[in-house]
Amino acid sequence: MRPLPVLALAAFALPLAAHANDPHSYAQPDQVVVTHLDLDLKIDFPHKQLDGVATLKLDWKNPQAPALVLDTRALSIASVDAVDADGRTQVLKYVLAPADKELGSKLTIEAPRHPAQVRIAYATSPEASGLQWLLPAQTADRKLPFMFSQSESIHARSWVPLQDSPAIRFSYDAHVTAPKDVRVVMSALNDAKHPLDGDFSFDQPHAIPSYLLAIAAGDIAVKETGPRSAVYAEPSVVDKAASEFADTEKMIETAESLYGPYRWGRYDLLVLPPSFPFGGMENPNMTFATPTIIVGDKSLVSVISHELAHSWSGNLVTNAAWRDGWLNEGFTTYVQGRITEALYGKRLADEEALLSARALQKSIGKMPANSQKLAPEPRGVDADDALSDVAYDKGSWFLRTLEQKFGRADFDAYLKGYFDHFAWHSITTEQMLAYMKPNLIEKYPGKMRWDEVQAWVYGAGIPQDAPLPDSPRFDAIDKERSAFLAGSLPAAQLDAKDWNTQEWMYFLDRLPDAPTLAQVQAIDAAWHLTGTHNAEIGMRWYVHAIAAGDKAVWPAAAEHMTRIGRLYLTTPVYRAFAQTPEGLAYAGQVYAKAKDGYHPMTQQAIERLFAKAKSAAK
Ligand SMILES: [Zn+2]
Repeated sequence: MRPLPVLALAAFALPLAAHANDPHSYAQPDQVVVTHLDLDLKIDFPHKQLDGVATLKLDWKNPQAPALVLDTRALSIASVDAVDADGRTQVLKYVLAPADKELGSKLTIEAPRHPAQVRIAYATSPEASGLQWLLPAQTADRKLPFMFSQSESIHARSWVPLQDSPAIRFSYDAHVTAPKDVRVVMSALNDAKHPLDGDFSFDQPHAIPSYLLAIAAGDIAVKETGPRSAVYAEPSVVDKAASEFADTEKMIETAESLYGPYRWGRYDLLVLPPSFPFGGMENPNMTFATPTIIVGDKSLVSVISHELAHSWSGNLVTNAAWRDGWLNEGFTTYVQGRITEALYGKRLADEEALLSARALQKSIGKMPANSQKLAPEPRGVDADDALSDVAYDKGSWFLRTLEQKFGRADFDAYLKGYFDHFAWHSITTEQMLAYMKPNLIEKYPGKMRWDEVQAWVYGAGIPQDAPLPDSPRFDAIDKERSAFLAGSLPAAQLDAKDWNTQEWMYFLDRLPDAPTLAQVQAIDAAWHLTGTHNAEIGMRWYVHAIAAGDKAVWPAAAEHMTRIGRLYLTTPVYRAFAQTPEGLAYAGQVYAKAKDGYHPMTQQAIERLFAKAKSAAK
């Protein structure tokens, strides 16, 4: 993440609706803000493009403002018009600047007379960074093409011209046409019974930030999982998905009992093809999810708890800029743990907290000091890199620390009050702290000092007294691993028969970076990890086996990398291959075949990884 300049003390005085300066957007919200978006889209599968008309309702803030400045990326603009209250239009002059590699093209629309609305006709590029287009052969059922968006962090601008900053919120409605038989869904209320007639309408009445704009279309079936939830997925996937996510209503009720009513109406889930680059994306009303969490035993559904939790932390109370990403991800990872604990027990919640804490302990020391901070200082980094492990794992660890220091009852009440206080607003770290000081730290004196809070938020590393949950089962696994590595316990005698997904993840995470070939072969002979359908286990296994020099796993690793485009499960395997010239060459061949099935973000990440490996080899 390229963070914002740290806001000085003045930030504490900002009113709720104030907009911080966002270095990842050209928008000038002190001049004018978009309050509503009306979208008309045609989905053109053969040309891999959206033909769009976006009408933006404007609230002019500065009477002298000469122009409306928008974010775009690789859009072809056909026309720009002012629209008056009677619907009459007038052509406006505009300048589309040359593209900046990170930010895209600034669109400056001359509008000195401050029209109430501006209408832009445009088309997206087939390479739009926020869209993926799949041929029928790249889907599970191979019948119809599929397309989906991923707007976070700054990719909404590649499919809609808008003010692409999380500080700015707007409601939207949309009319979308598509080929017959295709179902279109958006991050709005969706109608499971809508006929597949190629003509869809949507309404999102709540003001949301641009990164929550979302659309998908394809051969999508629906199955109800509760009174206000359904699963959407390709027909061959929908039953498996509905049974894996059968606890969705219980998850919503649990979150409501902690933090107040779910305010969005329905909570539906869309399971995407395996090329989806993330675990899940918290698009309002319609979480987008990877199929890699469907393993048959609900062991990875904490991704759904996570996306649901964003209905409070993220979608309701939003980070004002990507530098404040931990307000979304750290809070959400904490709430996710609470939902997991209530539904699946403390053992699983503690195991997931420990996995996240141990992984962070291992990785944080290798990061530059500034990246180790929850609220970092300015630095030239891509907005997509903003949401690092620090935002998730250190952020949630900080909240678990607060819970422990203040006690669960008082901390729960505090957090519920925080969500109510900042509901439907985008806030900075400093606004969060200005609320926390009187409402938590000073309200319950003697529990935690302010400088301890500051050390968590602005300090590098992990505070020494950061509490870790106990896990007797993880302790036992540590002992078994040590005995196995010391040669005193044969692999076949590991007590692993009943290990759940998280326990296998923990066993593998704490193996040496490069175990010996004999150790890897012994584990595989006893437990057959090569070819596993559990991608969390598979990713960890292939990384270690490749590092140990076990070429026998290469074809299965290649299958894993080709089948799955989720960044977190795929890039570590590429990185493991890239450590040797022979591995790098092999990974290059795998990529050449897999590339067409990858999302643009995955392609970019792997090409960056290759370039780095090649320059290091020189
Ligand atoms: Zn998240």
